[in-house]
Amino acid sequence: MSSMAARIGGGNVNSAWPGVSSRDKRYMGRVAELPCVVCGVHGVQLHHVREGQGMAQRASNYLVVPLCPDCHTGPNGIHGDKSLMRIQKLDEMDLLAKTIEALQ
Ligand SMILES: [Zn+2]
Ligand SMILES: [Zn+2]
Repeated sequence: MSSMAARIGGGNVNSAWPGVSSRDKRYMGRVAELPCVVCGVHGVQLHHVREGQGMAQRASNYLVVPLCPDCHTGPNGIHGDKSLMRIQKLDEMDLLAKTIEALQ
């Protein structure tokens, strides 16, 4: 239920994510500048891996992946039937690996 889906838009990372340490924000800000890790579209939201699986409270801010609104909360996205991911045979760990790779 805890929606950590941060709306990125203005680019002012410091005003987003209240309660998040500045170190974490710096990392999340870098991830938020990446294109969607599933479809490559820009203008992403951050999805916490394992979000909504009872681990939300312990979800690390370093376990975030950039997803566009469709791939995130859309009906076929990661919070929907996941078909946009399944088409590419991607699971959350693949998305995380791709995110880390993109940041190198
Ligand atoms: Zn996408
Ligand atoms: Zn999410």
